[in-house]
Amino acid sequence: MFPAFTLRYARLPEHFYERFDPVPVPAPRLVAFNRPLAEELDFDLTQFDETRLAEWFSGNVVPQGAEPVAQAYAGHQFGHFNPRLGDGRAVLLGEVTDREGRLRDIQLKGAGMTPFSRGADGRAPLGPVLREYLVSEAMHRLGVPTTRALAAVISGERVFRRVPEPGAVLTRVAASHLRVGTFQYFAARDDREAVRTLADMAIERHYFALNPALAKGDRYLALLEAVAQRQAALVAKWMGLGFIHGVMNTDNCTISGETIDYGPCAFMEAYSPTMVFSSIDEQGRYAYRNQPWLAQWNLARLAETLIPLLHDDQERAVALATEVIKRYESLYEAEWLAVMREKLGLLKEEEGDRELAEAFLEALGAGRADFTLGFRRLAEAVEVDAPGLAELFDNDRGLQEWLPRWRERLAHEDVGREEIAARMNAVNPLYIPRNHQVERVIAAAAEQDDFAPFDALREVLAEPFTEQPGREAYAQPAPPTERVFRTFCGT
Ligand code: AMP
Ligand code: MG
Repeated sequence: MFPAFTLRYARLPEHFYERFDPVPVPAPRLVAFNRPLAEELDFDLTQFDETRLAEWFSGNVVPQGAEPVAQAYAGHQFGHFNPRLGDGRAVLLGEVTDREGRLRDIQLKGAGMTPFSRGADGRAPLGPVLREYLVSEAMHRLGVPTTRALAAVISGERVFRRVPEPGAVLTRVAASHLRVGTFQYFAARDDREAVRTLADMAIERHYFALNPALAKGDRYLALLEAVAQRQAALVAKWMGLGFIHGVMNTDNCTISGETIDYGPCAFMEAYSPTMVFSSIDEQGRYAYRNQPWLAQWNLARLAETLIPLLHDDQERAVALATEVIKRYESLYEAEWLAVMREKLGLLKEEEGDRELAEAFLEALGAGRADFTLGFRRLAEAVEVDAPGLAELFDNDRGLQEWLPRWRERLAHEDVGREEIAARMNAVNPLYIPRNHQVERVIAAAAEQDDFAPFDALREVLAEPFTEQPGREAYAQPAPPTERVFRTFCGT
């Protein structure tokens, strides 16, 4: 039933990981299972056996062919370097080949104390597990590269955070778990060969098919550039959705360009570029508007690890790397503009589009309007004024000034307004995982063992661009009493 494992990572030299079997839990119970993803991964589900799945996805039974390891990595956390983080509560079972022939990591998160646990318990509370499940799957449906959630299992034991909570295990699927921090771990130990091994693995798994330059001479510089391109595209997508990751530490920055680690993440409601949710981000380092530049900062840390591979002459190597890091800015700007053009229904590229997009954001901000609905309801206003749009704004003066400018710009397009509206609705979601909804369903699950609200929300978020009659409430911003201002890592 479990697809065959490839043991690419576990076959690397011993110092890349610690062998580690998941620590069994007392009473595993499957609370969520992602059937479409399981099918994509080639699980045989003809004999669907929930007990079996609960055993596998809790770590109580190690599936045949798996060789669990905790991966070594380092990382800059809020700007401070820690040379040894590693999987403190996660275990990589191995890689499987999906139906498109790509290798995908299967990891259990919350699998018990590992040699990297640094005194913490190695477990995960149910709340963060459900949050990651919901948000990562929602991101996937929203078209954002992301790790996926295959299953969530309740462990039957309590974990102690601020209060005791039900423990849980999340099964995470990723293109790989290689992070900037993985490279840093070896660079900090001056282990060039290990960095080269990682770089080769990253090229092979994530970039080889895309860029033939990676096969030849400057393959490590090409790798850096390819990662920069993916990060630029990724963060531009986040920005287009009002998504705030919350902990863009280098250990949470993947080489594949997938979003990883949904700790204190949140979606912005009223547009505010300085928005921060995470309770531990006191300085606002990872505020919404800083995200593009934090990704660049992380890329610079990756570049540092690659210096010895870029050129024998160190000065030359630094110059080459610096050039790529600098170029990230224009890569990002281009990606952001492409995202904004789509959101505003602009197919052609014209000068002034950037200013037009910025002016709309300004109007959203001045009116304290909901970011998601502000874009969504624009489609109603391609020709005529839409009361549903204006009512989102505390003060709609900026909007009213902006609309004629935008409509004039739309007149340059070769397609009709109806088609423009349809295209906009295909990129501006109606449903996102709103923070208060996420907290509601977590509370029902954790306090009442009621997973119906979680399942219902999951279903809504599976079709984020399609109006779902009877589910209007899911599209609404939080009522004042339920507004979320702070999120917690919950690790
Ligand atoms: P994160 O905040 O999830 O990115 O984790 C940062 C680091 O802390 C990683 O090395 C994790 O493995 C480790 N960590 C987080 N939570 C726990 C936990 N409950 N037990 C052990 N290690 C943890
Ligand atoms: Mg992490």
